[in-house]
Amino acid sequence: MIKVRFAPSPTGHLHIGGARTAIFNWLFARHHSGRFVLRIEDTDKTRSTEESIQEIIEAMKWLGLDWDEGPYRQTERFDIYKKEAERLIAEGKAYYCWCTPEELEAIREESKGKFGIPKYDGRCRSRREPREGVNPVIRFKARTEGETVFKDLIKGEIRYPNSQLDDFIIMRSDGTPTYNFVVVVDDALMGITHVIRGDDHLNNTPKQIQLYEALGYDVPQFAHVPMILGPDKTKLSKRHGAVSVLAYREEGYLPEALFNFLVRLGWSHGDKEIFSKEELIELFDLKDVGKSPAVFNPDKLLWLNHHYIKTYPVEKLAELLKEFLVKEGIVDTSAELDPEWLKEVVIAFRERAKTLKEMAHQCEFLFKAPEKYDEKGTKKFFKPETAIYLEAIAEEIENTSEFTKEAIDKIFNNVLERFNIKLKAVAQPVRIAITGRTVSPGLHEILLLVGKEEAAKRIRRAAQYIKNL
Ligand code: GLU
Repeated sequence: MIKVRFAPSPTGHLHIGGARTAIFNWLFARHHSGRFVLRIEDTDKTRSTEESIQEIIEAMKWLGLDWDEGPYRQTERFDIYKKEAERLIAEGKAYYCWCTPEELEAIREESKGKFGIPKYDGRCRSRREPREGVNPVIRFKARTEGETVFKDLIKGEIRYPNSQLDDFIIMRSDGTPTYNFVVVVDDALMGITHVIRGDDHLNNTPKQIQLYEALGYDVPQFAHVPMILGPDKTKLSKRHGAVSVLAYREEGYLPEALFNFLVRLGWSHGDKEIFSKEELIELFDLKDVGKSPAVFNPDKLLWLNHHYIKTYPVEKLAELLKEFLVKEGIVDTSAELDPEWLKEVVIAFRERAKTLKEMAHQCEFLFKAPEKYDEKGTKKFFKPETAIYLEAIAEEIENTSEFTKEAIDKIFNNVLERFNIKLKAVAQPVRIAITGRTVSPGLHEILLLVGKEEAAKRIRRAAQYIKNL
């Protein structure tokens, strides 16, 4: 049975890179009908926050990443780590180190001169007596000769010279365990078969393999995923814009779009770009994860989001649009919007809105008459004679008994005929009158969406405006 885990440290937002790691693990588990574990690595009590834990969970739920076990919290498992550390001491595989900070500093300096890297020299391996006033740490007796060799499922064979290692700390002097130790104890006891994580952890793997062996556990398989770069080919960071998953939700991205986008950062299946979750579960394989870093392309995310908006269930989109209308302050929470009407709104705007936030702003005129008219548009389209045409249209609208697409066609035809003009003479003026802008969905759509009375009112208002010019 395949079992994988996502093991975030709750020290901030769930960011793009972490979410991609979670997705790869989730897909791998689902593809193999295995299990996906969520484990919160909160041993660093000074940097971990409850808020971050809740945010990670919320972001995972939003992306549709459900877990089969957990969330475990490492801070609830300190007894287990302590027992395992004591076992290593009893078996002579770890030891208390009583070195003082000054001593450690001197050792570091000396080893930098000798090996070029700071390394502990292992002197407490043979020191047995406690030092007064010093709380000891526990160090692991690392093997420093030879190589650690393992087969990474993405990077291939990795050979690591053990001379890079020293007797690293597994328990700090305050009794808290360190990352490399807890991750091994947990992965082993939780039965994790594949460790899929960012390649920033590659250098930790040799230490962890030695710990697995010392503890008598089976070593899992490893798959280290190359990192994500920003468009300028440096490591993706805040400098490149939003990096937290929930920030994308706030900006009006659909979870399906972000999911699809993140999978494609590093994984591919031919030239195909758009995948449903079901397809991904069927197709996902670690062998198709690239060896080189992926580049984050925000335009592609936008393109994917637009694709998902265009193909999303209208009802769901209407609900989301309502949320954004409230969030953007366009309607207030108590506003009662007819769900059927809102569906028509979505249908009218989904071709042109790349995000839900954009859609909310594009359709703002449906809720508030324009406060001003587009400047270039008025110069170009509001001629003195336009006022008369607009008044005629307004009057026809007022007098029509039903306000339908056909009725609107008839109204326009009547006016064009009466004044012997082309549609061009009134189309943009009406658009500006209704929306304040020169771009919008089609005339029929916007007129029907604002409704008969409001349409007539706005068109009359624009006519008056022209007269006052
Ligand atoms: N907690 C670690 C991190 O957030 C992940 C550890 C792991 O996957 O082994 O980077």
